Amino acid sequence: MPLSAALLQTLHSIVGDKGFTTNQGEIAPYLQESRNRFQGHCDILIRPKNTQEVAEVLAICNDENIPVVPQGGNTGHCGGAVPQGGILLNLSRLNKIRQLDGLNATITVDAGCILQNVQLTADKADLYFPLSLAAEGSCQIGGNLATNAGGIHVLRYGNMRDLTLGLEVVLPDGQIWDGLRALRKDNTGYDLKHLFIGSEGTLGVITGAVLKLFPKPKARACAFVASESPGHLMDVFAYMRDYFGEQLCAFEMMPRFGLDLVLKHITGTTDPFAIAYQWYGVLEISTSRPNTNLQTELEEALHPLFDRGYIQNAVVAQDLMQAEKIWALRESMSEAQKREGGSVKHDISVPVSHIPDFLAETSHAVCNVVPGSRICAFGHVGDGNIHFNISQPETMEKAAFLTNWEALNEIVHEMAEKYEGSFSAEHGVGQLKINEMDRFRGGVELDSMRLIKRAFDPNNIMNPGKVVKI
Ligand SMILES: Cc1cc2nc3c(=O)[nH]c(=O)nc-3n(C[C@H](O)[C@H](O)[C@H](O)COP(=O)(O)OP(=O)(O)OC[C@H]3O[C@@H](n4cnc5c(N)ncnc54)[C@H](O)[C@@H]3O)c2cc1C
Repeated sequence: MPLSAALLQTLHSIVGDKGFTTNQGEIAPYLQESRNRFQGHCDILIRPKNTQEVAEVLAICNDENIPVVPQGGNTGHCGGAVPQGGILLNLSRLNKIRQLDGLNATITVDAGCILQNVQLTADKADLYFPLSLAAEGSCQIGGNLATNAGGIHVLRYGNMRDLTLGLEVVLPDGQIWDGLRALRKDNTGYDLKHLFIGSEGTLGVITGAVLKLFPKPKARACAFVASESPGHLMDVFAYMRDYFGEQLCAFEMMPRFGLDLVLKHITGTTDPFAIAYQWYGVLEISTSRPNTNLQTELEEALHPLFDRGYIQNAVVAQDLMQAEKIWALRESMSEAQKREGGSVKHDISVPVSHIPDFLAETSHAVCNVVPGSRICAFGHVGDGNIHFNISQPETMEKAAFLTNWEALNEIVHEMAEKYEGSFSAEHGVGQLKINEMDRFRGGVELDSMRLIKRAFDPNNIMNPGKVVKI
C-alpha cells in the first residue's frame, strides 16, 4: 500500500533533504546488487546521519508496519541489502570515527564507516585492524558486522565476531541499545552483540561498534606455491601452521583453471611460473617484531617441502610490489570468472581435514550432472572456506547452463553437509539461501532463531524475507 503523504512528510522531517528521496532515478543505483541476481524495488530511500535519526525512523516504521532494509556498501553476495518494497535505510552518512584508544587497542566507529577508512585510521595510529577483503574500499563496518564478514586474515585474527567488543543497535521499535563497551572481559548475562552480528539486518540496525586493534605488522612475506593436488596443498598448510604458528595469517588456494581465467581476462597479470601446474597456494606470514627477515625464513621453510613432494615450485615475493602482484592473482578470481560467462557460485566451509575428499567427490558429482563443467574451487582453505564456483562448459550456452542453478546448488550444499560443513561460510544467507535454512538448519536450531526474531521484531519489519522465514 502506498505510504500516505503525511507519513512521508514526517519521515522527511526527521532526516531532512539530504537523507530522503522518493525519486526512483536517485534510488536506482542503490538497488544495483553486486552479482545482478536480484532486482530490488522500494518507495523511499532514507539516509540518516546519526543514531537518533535511525531510532526515530524505526519507531515510525514499527508503528506503521513498514518494512525496513538496512544497507551498507551493498557489496553483499546474497541479496540481503536488496529491498522488496518499503524503505531502504542506507547507513553511509553515519561515517564518523568516534574514538581511537591506543592503550586499550580499540576503535569506536559509526556503522557506516567504510572498512578501508577504519584500516587507514588504525594504521595512522601505528595499529592494525585486520579484517581484509576485496570489497574493502566500499563495504561498511555495519555490513561487515551484519554478515559476520571473514576475508583473508581469519586464520590468524578471526572473523568480525572475533574482532568486536561492543555494539550500538537500534531495535525495531526505535529503542537504542548502547552496548559500546570496550571490554575484553564482560560476563554480564547473555552476550547480545553476538545476536546482532551475523543477523543480516533482521533484528535491528547496527549504528556503532567498538572494534579490536592489534600491533601493526612490521614485516610480511608472501609466497606463491604450486602443488599437484589439494591434498598436497593441505600438507603445505599443516606444515606452515606448525612452523610459523600464529605468524601464518593467510592461506589461500586456487586451481589452474582459475589462474587461466585471471591471466586471460585481467590486464597486467602474469603467471609467476614458466610452466603450468594443477593447483596453487598463496600464503602470507607477518610479525609485529621489527627487524625480522621473514622472506629468508619463508624461503627456508619452503625448502624441505620440495623433497617431501608437497610442492612442485614456489616463489617468495622479494618486495611489496611482487607481493601485491601475487595477491592480485587471487583477488581477481571472481572478476575473471564473471568475464568468462555464466557461473554458479557457492560459499561453503568444511573442516580443513575434509577439503581434499570434499573437492574430489563434489567435482565428480557436478560433472556427472553437467558434463564439461569447469570447476573453479578457490578460497580461504586455511579456514576451510571454499568458493566452489562452476563455470559454464565451453560448448554450452550461458542460459542453458544457468537452468542447472538449483540442481548444482543442491549437489554442492548436500556435499558440504555430508562433509560436516556449512552451506554458507562467510557471505551469509540473505534471500539467496533462505530455502537452505529450512533444509539444513530446520528443527530446534531454526525454531530457536524464529523465537529470537519474533521477540526482537514482532511486527517483522526488519529485512523481511531474509535469513529466516516467519
Ligand atoms: C569483490 C568482493 C569480494 C568479497 N570478499 C569477501 C570476503 O572475502 N569475505 C566476506 O566475508 N565477504 C566478502 N564479500 C561480500 C561482502 O563484501 C561482505 O558480505 C560485506 O561484509 C558486506 O558489507 P556491506 O557494507 O557491503 O553490506 P551490504 O551488502 O550493504 O549488506 C549486507 C547485509 O547486512 C545488512 N546490513 C548492512 N548494514 C547494516 C547495519 N548497519 N545494520 C544492520 N544490518 C546491516 C544488510 O541488510 C544485508 O542483509 C565480497 C564482496 C565482493 C563484491
